Amino acid sequence: MVKQANDVLSTFGTTIFEVMSKLAMEHKAINLGQGFPDEDGPADIRQMAAKGLMDGPNQYPPMMGTPSLRRAVADSNHRFYGIAVEPNSGVLVTSGATEALADCLMALINPGDEVVLLEPLYDCYLPLVLRAGGIPKFVRLDPPHWELNEDRLRSAFSSKTKLVLLNNPMNPTGKVFNLQELELLADVIIEHDAYAVCDEVYEHIVFGNLCHIPLVTLPGMGDRTVRIGSAGKTFSLTGWKVGYITGADELIAKISKAHQFVTFTTPPALQNAVAFGLNKDDLFYEDLQTSMQSKRDFFRNGLQSIGFETADCDGTYFLNADISSIGYEGTDEEFCRMITTEAGVAALPVSAFYASEGAKTNFVRFCFCKREDVLQQAISKLDKFFTNK
Ligand code: PMP
Ligand code: GLN
Repeated sequence: MVKQANDVLSTFGTTIFEVMSKLAMEHKAINLGQGFPDEDGPADIRQMAAKGLMDGPNQYPPMMGTPSLRRAVADSNHRFYGIAVEPNSGVLVTSGATEALADCLMALINPGDEVVLLEPLYDCYLPLVLRAGGIPKFVRLDPPHWELNEDRLRSAFSSKTKLVLLNNPMNPTGKVFNLQELELLADVIIEHDAYAVCDEVYEHIVFGNLCHIPLVTLPGMGDRTVRIGSAGKTFSLTGWKVGYITGADELIAKISKAHQFVTFTTPPALQNAVAFGLNKDDLFYEDLQTSMQSKRDFFRNGLQSIGFETADCDGTYFLNADISSIGYEGTDEEFCRMITTEAGVAALPVSAFYASEGAKTNFVRFCFCKREDVLQQAISKLDKFFTNK
């Protein structure tokens, strides 16, 4: 007889990303479930990493990150948003945004603190908040427009609110928060003297004339907000797991207390290659945006031609489709299993991203960061399946 494992983590099943990717593999379905590009990022960045692995150094780099990456992260904060970040004390390199999130939550939350989470939410948020002893307070956003409702937001706050975890641009919704919404968030956060942890891994994947506005740039937010980025999304290298946190020196010092005991460092060859990537010229970032936008447009047109209504999508890798709009009456989860096993295309049920009671949706999330021929094949398979039904 062995003692029970941790009570919080043992209540969670296997993450939906793993479950649906496994099902997609078993049925040889096109995997539009888990979010990852099917083309690796720039060859020159990968070449830099390969050279770094061969030439070294390959021993522990400094705990806060290699000097070249810390400098590049600080420079890109200034270049894209005019944010002044101190490379030696305001940047912390982590093993992916996931480690960054874990570090921030472990470092800031005391048991009993309330944490405001916007639903639908990315899979690791809730387990990490609960494991740190935080009490989640949910603010629900609904498809198809994902508006932030002021009353819902205000009623999630109390004198016990320690922090808000904001994902902008937002997975799985594809929402990009506008200035008014960010101003509202900033007001409420300041009123409650709370922190903001901003997961901005899709900062460079925003469409049309919209631009990404980091919450930290709003008046009064500088000392209470940290911003998380990830090379995985910016350079289409999701397996690399190189992330970075930026913020005021005092906040970064607090968060590094967690990082030093979680991973301590991240492979130096990957860090230096990411530094090279961050310094790429504007054309690289414009190409990323236009290529992702044309994939979204292509896939959205395809879904609409089958008869699906789609939710708003202004950024990220994800587009959500309304399954009731084609007359489907089952649950979003049943729908995803059906199209994976019978139509040969995998998607994710959006209700898997809601944690509060009774949160069911008629929406499924498709990941569109794939080659156009792959998206075309997926559309053809779905079209054939639903036309013959
Ligand atoms: N946050 C969000 C919103 C994500 O979609 C992801 C998925 N990649 C992550 C964090 C994790 O990023 P990383 O792979 O850098 O850990
Ligand atoms: N971020 C990716 C998504 O939302 C998946 C990452 C993961 O599998 N943990 O699909």
